[in-house]
Amino acid sequence: MEIIHVSAECYPVAKAGGLGDVVGALPKYQNHAGHIAKVVMTMYKTKFLLNHEWAVVHKGYTNLGHWWFTYTIIKEATNVLGFDLYLVDINGLLDREKIYGYEDDAERFTAFQICVVDWISAWEHHPDVIHVHDYHAGLIPFMLKHCFRYQHLKNIPTVLTIHNAQYQGWMGWEKSNLLPAYDEWKRGMLDWKNNINPLASGIKCAWKVTTVSHSYMDELRVAANGLEALFEYEKGKCSGILNGIDNAVWDPSTDTYIENHFSVDDADAGKLKSKKLLCETFDLDITKPLIVFIGRLVGEKGADLLPQAIADSYFHIGRTMNFLILGSGFPEVESALEGMKVLAQKDYNAYIGYNESLSHLMYAGADFILMPSRVEPCGLNQMYAMRYGTVPMVRNTGGLRDTVIDYGDEGGYGIRFNYVSVGDITQAVWRAVELYKDEEKLKEIRKTMMQLDFSWEASVKQYVALYESL
Ligand code: ADP
Repeated sequence: MEIIHVSAECYPVAKAGGLGDVVGALPKYQNHAGHIAKVVMTMYKTKFLLNHEWAVVHKGYTNLGHWWFTYTIIKEATNVLGFDLYLVDINGLLDREKIYGYEDDAERFTAFQICVVDWISAWEHHPDVIHVHDYHAGLIPFMLKHCFRYQHLKNIPTVLTIHNAQYQGWMGWEKSNLLPAYDEWKRGMLDWKNNINPLASGIKCAWKVTTVSHSYMDELRVAANGLEALFEYEKGKCSGILNGIDNAVWDPSTDTYIENHFSVDDADAGKLKSKKLLCETFDLDITKPLIVFIGRLVGEKGADLLPQAIADSYFHIGRTMNFLILGSGFPEVESALEGMKVLAQKDYNAYIGYNESLSHLMYAGADFILMPSRVEPCGLNQMYAMRYGTVPMVRNTGGLRDTVIDYGDEGGYGIRFNYVSVGDITQAVWRAVELYKDEEKLKEIRKTMMQLDFSWEASVKQYVALYESL
């Protein structure tokens, strides 16, 4: 089966979060399973782009409203990724450094999608399925169904995977002329609450819709940043498929980002070496449990509660644990976390920014990882952490609920709490401190977690079954 993934992110080329990890791994494992999976992505000026060889495979000429432009499709020439990767380059629009955050993002991602469909329409054959990811590619199912110039592609099945429904790519109707001419009677297929809503359009027009965990799919019918009724209405074609993790990248016995490798049998000693390195680098007391947070410092991740929860933990439990934070996001949260450094007593530190290699060292060296998420479609951090023997402390939501069982329950191995509140987080910290004192129990939990199977194989089978049903 030939599957074309369309995405704004793909690890290791360009990644801002879980979307990048998934699109960098799923196609690889689909290829392992005997399919032909390819990725088409927007071009950015990233290190990967500059350090790799590229071949031009197509040059096209198309329009974004009244603006006619030339675009180029380039292909990674050495196939290092385990799948064919194609980048869409539009001079001045897509050859920029950041992935998101420009004023003309609506134009950038609409032009990207037009180029992808335009290019595919020039092929002599049709792929078996076009699999689009998040709102950045959410207009493609509409274009294939309702834009006049792509009518010959309308029988290609489309699947939309929603990695995060908070971001929907809203744009005003004045931008409707950016799209290639379409059947005006189908305006409703673009609209949600009087705006063009690319994510809503994808949900309406894709043949099937998936999210990255079962629980998140259920939650979207009651909390989806305004799209709840749409998820309820379209529930017949929606399903949840849990993400896997790329065991080749995230393997403590071979991870190229860490020096001290370990596996299940020598996890305690191996982790301790990485913890020592972290404690020396960040001036922390190695005898205390190390609780880390890795992620975007935004409300979705509950990051705004971290400063108060850390202060309350010190106050109520005592300064018996270390906290180490890695992340970037809301400036207020960044400065609050940065500001707490002056009060540290060898038990707190924060790295504000994005740092892939530090994140790997933290998964390896930490004892616990805290994820007090308000929303967590799947969450990869907890799965990476468990593979590295680090106990997840998670709020009972979305993919966290689907992957972590509380150690107080039968067969459990993590710490779960119900509310995104300072009180619940503090209580989870207390449980972590208590668990850390019980060395035997912690060892047993580590062993169980490290042997859990979150590999992509199971998810690949579910995606393929879904494609086949189309
Ligand atoms: P989301 O996509 O919502 O941000 P996920 O849990 O699905 O959350 O994926 C987060 C990914 O991004 C993980 O691979 C995590 O390690 C990585 N990550 C997030 N913030 C940072 C950071 N500041 N530095 C390094 N890696 C980070």
